[in-house]
Amino acid sequence: METDVLVIGGGPAGLSAAITARELGIQQVLVVDENPLPGGQLIKQTHKFFGSRHHFCGVRGIDIAVLLLSRLKQGLQPTQCEARDNGIEILLNASAVGIYDYSRSGDLSHNGKIVSIATESELIQVHCKRIIVSTGAQENMLNFSNNDLPGIYGAGAVQTLVNVYGVPPGKKVLMVGSGNIGLIVSYQLMQAGIQVVGIIEALNKIGGYLVHAAKVRRLGIPIYISHTIKEAIGEKYVEAAVIVELNAQWNEISGTEQKIECDVICLACGLSPSTELLHQAGCKMVYTPEMGGYVAWHNERLQTSIDSIYVAGDSSGIEEAVTAILEGRIAGASCVYDILGSRAGRVTDSPLQAETIIQQSIDELHQFRSGPFGEKTVKGKKKMTNLLS
Ligand SMILES: Cc1cc2nc3c(=O)[nH]c(=O)nc-3n(C[C@H](O)[C@H](O)[C@H](O)COP(=O)(O)OP(=O)(O)OC[C@H]3O[C@@H](n4cnc5c(N)ncnc54)[C@H](O)[C@@H]3O)c2cc1C
Repeated sequence: METDVLVIGGGPAGLSAAITARELGIQQVLVVDENPLPGGQLIKQTHKFFGSRHHFCGVRGIDIAVLLLSRLKQGLQPTQCEARDNGIEILLNASAVGIYDYSRSGDLSHNGKIVSIATESELIQVHCKRIIVSTGAQENMLNFSNNDLPGIYGAGAVQTLVNVYGVPPGKKVLMVGSGNIGLIVSYQLMQAGIQVVGIIEALNKIGGYLVHAAKVRRLGIPIYISHTIKEAIGEKYVEAAVIVELNAQWNEISGTEQKIECDVICLACGLSPSTELLHQAGCKMVYTPEMGGYVAWHNERLQTSIDSIYVAGDSSGIEEAVTAILEGRIAGASCVYDILGSRAGRVTDSPLQAETIIQQSIDELHQFRSGPFGEKTVKGKKKMTNLLS
């Protein structure tokens, strides 16, 4: 296949990038996603978002996915709709597995790329001018005895089972982690009629917004701060967990062990950017714990150290859906600027519009990150820039 812009990952960042690139006049945009449904994490987020009205405040994540998808499918000029639907194609159940250089003329400085996409039945090679890697994040695992017993899940997996497929993971859940994800998923489990027997948190305070903590407390879920999980108990699957208190140095306090009956242990212990493709493609990687671990170095326009590869969303550093959408816009518009801006004799003013969108979205991101919850990201992005300069 051939396309102008290939977007890897159809979450909020990828969809927003595809919409922007297409609206600014890129002829062909291909979005690939390894899931059977587009929308990334949004399709399981039944809760309403916080933030400003301009940024989907009060709208449920699942509805944001619907809004983005309908924008993707409409609003384009009839003349632009001839090639394939509206010029955007979405390939689902398709994993990008490798990024390689190619050049028809043998000149690699031409910067064309081939991306290998594995579908259920074949391996497709996609030739493209620009790539946006918006592959999201992976859930962090924890080290404790028996942590491979069936019944131990990441919180995102539990949310997918319950909210997307309507499948209960078990009857009694112990949640590990009191950040927003741990609190929100606990609340949603209770809404689905699944008991949450407790939330444990290694820090000496609750990690997420107090409004979420108050909601789960009102439901009677105990929150154990300064506690961690020591062991999962069970022969063939989880039957209980042993938790233990931690001192100020994060060492276990012997004698404080408690056994808690549960058949699910749900880990909400943070996310790490999904950056394997960026590593493999040869992008310069930097370790910034504030952004969740290794990320591809990138500039404000989200261009990596390889000119034709861009990043957006959680794969560029862990944040949230609104910043993912804004980053998608920047990455999409940057690709347009790159592809059309240098084209001699161009007849559209798209590069100018692209530049305006880039600058507006950068300003919005700065504003969005100016509060206390953006501090970590701002520090991480600064550190990343300094590490390679
Ligand atoms: C449980 C949970 C609750 C959350 N609640 C909130 C909230 O209330 N408010 C908020 O703002 N944020 C919330 N977030 C965070 C928010 O969902 C993410 O920050 C946001 O979805 C990131 O968007 P993204 O597009 O970067 O990645 P994702 O939404 O993760 O999308 C990435 C997509 O890439 C695809 N993909 C990955 N690798 C490949 C590959 N190699 N080939 C093809 N496809 C690939 C995946 O299938 C996925 O669809 C929550 C996150 C979680 C896990």
